Amino acid sequence: MTKKFEELGLSAELTRALSENGYEAPFPIQEAAIPLILEGKDVIGQAHTGTGKTAAFGLPLLSMVKADGPVQALVLVPTRELAVQVTNEIHKLARYTGVKTVAIYGGQSINMQHDKLKRGVQIIVATPGRLIDHIKQGSIILDDVRFLVLDEADRMLDMGFIDDIKFIMFYVNEDRQTFLFSATMPPEILRLSEEYMKNAEHIRLNEEEVALDTIEQAYLVVEEKEKFKHLSDFIRQNQKAQTIVFAATKQRADRVAHKLYQDGFRAVAIHGDLTQRQRDSAMYKFRKGSEDILVATDIAARGIDVPAVGHVINYDVPDDPNVYFHRIGRTARAGAEGKAISLVSADRVADFERILAQTTLPIRKLNDELGIAVPVAQQRQASFGGYRRRGPSYGHGSGGRGYGGDRRGYGGGGRSYGGHRSSGDRGYGGQRRSYGQGRGHSRHSEYSSY
Ligand code: AMP
Repeated sequence: MTKKFEELGLSAELTRALSENGYEAPFPIQEAAIPLILEGKDVIGQAHTGTGKTAAFGLPLLSMVKADGPVQALVLVPTRELAVQVTNEIHKLARYTGVKTVAIYGGQSINMQHDKLKRGVQIIVATPGRLIDHIKQGSIILDDVRFLVLDEADRMLDMGFIDDIKFIMFYVNEDRQTFLFSATMPPEILRLSEEYMKNAEHIRLNEEEVALDTIEQAYLVVEEKEKFKHLSDFIRQNQKAQTIVFAATKQRADRVAHKLYQDGFRAVAIHGDLTQRQRDSAMYKFRKGSEDILVATDIAARGIDVPAVGHVINYDVPDDPNVYFHRIGRTARAGAEGKAISLVSADRVADFERILAQTTLPIRKLNDELGIAVPVAQQRQASFGGYRRRGPSYGHGSGGRGYGGDRRGYGGGGRSYGGHRSSGDRGYGGQRRSYGQGRGHSRHSEYSSY
C-alpha cells in the first residue's frame, strides 16, 4: 500500500505545497527515501530523471533545513539544465517553508549569482566548476552544510567531474548526511560512496529503475573461429563511436586488441595483469579519444572509471545475465542511443538464452538478415527454439550484407525491431530493464583460440 505524504513525516507546510502542486501520493523512490533521510541515514538511490528523485531528497531537505540560516544543503548536479530543473522543483515545494534555494552554474553572470547569494540562501544547487569559482572567491562558504546531494552521479563522473567533486567534498563538514542518486551504479560510483558515505542505505526501484531501452541490442551466432572477422567488420562499419569490447579472459583481451591493432584499428587492452600505470595510460588514451576501442575484461572494467561509450561488443557472452546488463549499460548514458552486439558461439547459446529470458526488450538476431548461417552440427547442439522468430533459416544465405550500410544490416536504418519481444512501448516509460540486482561475478571460462 502506498503511504500518504503525511505518513512519511513531512510538515504541514510541505504537504500543503504538495497538494497544491497536484502531488497526491509519493512515488516509490520518495516513499523509500524520505523516511530514511529524515532518520538521519545516508542514502544511495538508483533512479533516473522522471522517477521523482528531486522531491525524494528535496522534501526532507526542506523539512530539516532552517529558514534564514546559512547555507545548509548542497546539491551537486552535472549540467546547468539540471541545476535549473532541480531548483525549480525545490522552489515549488518550498513555497510555505521560507527556505531559499539558488542555482549556481557556469554560463550565467557570476555577479548576478553574487547578488542572489548576498540575499541569503539555505540550499545551493550547483554544477561543480562554477561552485569551485565561488568557493575560491569566498562568495560561498560551505562550513554549515549538513546535507550533501550528488545528483546524477554517473553523469558527473562521465563528464570528468571526479576531481572537482573531491575538491568540494574537502570543504564540506564530515559531520553531514550524504545522498547519492544515479541511474547506473558502475563500480566507480560504489567506490565514491564507500569513500564519502557512512553506512549508506541502498534504494533500488524494481521496474522503472534503469532505462536500457535506448540501446539497440543484437546478437549473432557464429563459429568461434569466425568471431574476430565479425568483430572487425562490425567495428569497420560503425566507426564513429567509441567502443568497448568485452572479452572473457586477459589473454583474449590482449589478443583481440593486438589483432585489431594489426588490422589498423586504434585499440587498447585493459585487464588485471597490467600495472596500475599501464591501466591508467590505456584509460587515458581511450578517454582522450586517441584510441577508439577498449578491449576489457569484466574485472578490469569493474575497477576503472570507464566512460559512456557508443557501442559495447560482447566478444564473449558472460555467464551471468546481470553482467550482460551491466556491460550494455555502458552505452547510451544520458539518454543517448547506443548499440550492443553479442557474438555468441555455439557453446554459449544456452548462456545467451538466459539473458534473452531476463529481458522484455528486443534483442535482434542478426543471422538471418546478414545471411550468416550457423553450421548444421552447431545448430543441433543449440536449442534456439524459443528465440527463433522466423522459420528455420540456418544454412542459407550467402553473406554480403553489411552491419552498417545496408538498411537491413545492423546499424542501418530505423529501429524496426520485429522480434517477438518487441511488445513494449518504445516511448518514455516503456519497457525498462533493471539490472544490478545481483553482482554476480562472471566465471571466466577459457575458450579455444579464435
Ligand atoms: P524528477 O524525477 O525529480 O525529475 O521528477 C519528475 C517529475 O515528476 C517532475 O515533473 C515532478 O514535478 C513530478 N513529481 C515528482 N513527484 C511527484 C509525485 N509524488 N506526484 C506527482 N508528480 C510528481
